[in-house]
Amino acid sequence: MTLAPNVYDAEPIPEEARAEIDRLLASGDLFRYTAPEDAPVALLEAEFAEALGVKYALAVSSCSAALFLALKALGLPRDSRVLIPAFTFAAVPSAVVHAECVPILVEVGENYRIDMADFEAKLGPHIRAVIVSHMRGHTSDMDAIMELCDRRGVPVIEDAAHSLGTLWHGRKIGTIGKIGAFSFQSYKMLNAGEGGVLVSDDADVIARAVIMSGAYEHNWKKHKAPRGDNSDELARAFARWQNRLPLYNTRMSNLSAAVVRPQIPELARRVRAGLANHDHVAARLNESPWMAVPAPLPPETRAPDSIQFNLLGMSDDEVRAFVAAAAARGVGVQVFGLSKDNARAFWNWEFLPEGPGDLPRTRAMLMRACDVRLPVRLTRPELDVMADALLSAAREVMGEAGALAGPGSAGRAR
Ligand SMILES: *Cc1c(COP(=O)(O)O)cnc(C)c1O
Repeated sequence: MTLAPNVYDAEPIPEEARAEIDRLLASGDLFRYTAPEDAPVALLEAEFAEALGVKYALAVSSCSAALFLALKALGLPRDSRVLIPAFTFAAVPSAVVHAECVPILVEVGENYRIDMADFEAKLGPHIRAVIVSHMRGHTSDMDAIMELCDRRGVPVIEDAAHSLGTLWHGRKIGTIGKIGAFSFQSYKMLNAGEGGVLVSDDADVIARAVIMSGAYEHNWKKHKAPRGDNSDELARAFARWQNRLPLYNTRMSNLSAAVVRPQIPELARRVRAGLANHDHVAARLNESPWMAVPAPLPPETRAPDSIQFNLLGMSDDEVRAFVAAAAARGVGVQVFGLSKDNARAFWNWEFLPEGPGDLPRTRAMLMRACDVRLPVRLTRPELDVMADALLSAAREVMGEAGALAGPGSAGRAR
């Protein structure tokens, strides 16, 4: 029997990173502001901004730090209400709480996207900002979200931590709202171990974020203006905010930047491979009456490195039996709402100042939504081993006719 692949190992870091890391180790030049210009972190920012087609990028210690700085850069007063999806990673409500704001949770449907009726209902006059989390790359209706928010003058922050490379009407996700945030944690498309980046076209937003990230004194002068931009816009924005903001020190080190930079040219290949892998496994799982992979919204081109699917017509016991049957075949399946203390299940966010509220749709989705990592380096035979394991696990639990054999069967009306 072919063994299921290990889905936790990342791709190797490109060889070019070694010479640069050796150079940094030899000189000890690890701090982004030691060199007068062109430090690896500053070069990473310029390259990332260019790759995304935005004016400004700020590299920081994590995507969580980028989200925190985004809220701070917007100048939200304490206790501001910030709308976030109820299906996201715990880092998102945590960043809101860290910024002394109050997360208000919006329902997410069984296709893992923001429920627009609930979004519109909750986007009241007290909402000061919106964070859209493109969870696992599933892109909510950005046309409707931007239209509603622009009309009310509410700034949109895109949490694109796990969505780098995704397109919406051909536009890069993370560049549609006022601010975008990405992660370089090892499970994301670009891997620095830890790290994140904030992007924006707004000079005041970026100047405020740069200073608060720890550009003390005149270190902001070591940040690069967009190529070919002689407008002085950025320098004037820095001058406006000098000495007026706290320094939270969430900087990135040159070592992390040296690890990410040679991966940027790899991104297009990773996105292509990830999408082909995902769509291959999705087509196979959709053959089963017990599993459904939600389709993307029409304007979306995905960049997945994992797959999510819903279990259909199963009781809680049958879902647990399916997870066990997949595990016995070497494939780890996480049901967001059933795995204990899952960081993506909103009822585990006990730190929310006003609680999560009533979210029956999101809760029902989380109880049946499965998560399986599909790193882009997997080969077609490895993907087939995984798909075969999932299909046969579902058959074992539900049978061809749909009956669960043995004790523990919860009655199913079928
Ligand atoms: C990974 C992730 C984050 C947090 O990123 P860090 O860099 O680990 O702080 C936030 N939101 C989503 C959707 C993520 O997947």
